[in-house]
Amino acid sequence: MRLRKRPGVREEMATYPKLVPMNGPDHKGNWRAFFGNDNPIHIELGTGKGNFITTLAEQNPDINFFGVELHEEVLIQAVKKAEEKGLTNISFLWINVNDLEDYFASGEVNRIYLNFSDPWPKKRHAKRRLTDRSFLSKYKNVLNPDGYIQLKTDNETLFEYSLNEFAHEMFLLSGITLDLHKSEYAEGNVMTEYEAKFVERGMRIYRCLAAHPM
Ligand code: SAM
Repeated sequence: MRLRKRPGVREEMATYPKLVPMNGPDHKGNWRAFFGNDNPIHIELGTGKGNFITTLAEQNPDINFFGVELHEEVLIQAVKKAEEKGLTNISFLWINVNDLEDYFASGEVNRIYLNFSDPWPKKRHAKRRLTDRSFLSKYKNVLNPDGYIQLKTDNETLFEYSLNEFAHEMFLLSGITLDLHKSEYAEGNVMTEYEAKFVERGMRIYRCLAAHPM
């Protein structure tokens, strides 16, 4: 995704220290103290403009949420959504997913959402896909043994690749649908910004759950 750099966005991010903690690794293994409760932790990787994760945070005050995002130009929009909604059960990590294990201790995360991750269609870029086995082994480490990953994508090739990678890493697959919005999983589905665009164009959404292999 090509993004235009907006001057001052980094400085703007620093004005939200609670929503965007800059000393994330200091809280590793101790995020419950950061939130001041013992609630489970759910994270979205590549959260973009944050409609999904801020809506979930609004609907589920007993869960602590994180939006993880590399690009500040979109992340700042997610942060502002959380601020406008007055949410206190969400935080954002302005980081590369590659570094996830620097921010969460083993078993600290109860659920991971992967929504419309970049497909990286060229074979030589496959390792950049967020469901490549190198990423899955990191997720396996931070995920609680009772935890699972929920994946949604519009991209059939990425979906097929992801199912194979999950199977390779011994995740237990369930809740698979090739057309989410016409499936039994449609009810209660919270749409992301990308999802809303794809649905408007009449495109199918693929979805599955992948449970921690324990
Ligand atoms: N999940 C959002 C949605 O469905 O509307 C955004 C989808 S967008 C196609 C993918 C997002 O993942 C982008 O915002 C991109 O910056 C972010 N992303 C991709 N690779 C990443 C990485 N390695 N670490 C953090 N964020 C990443």
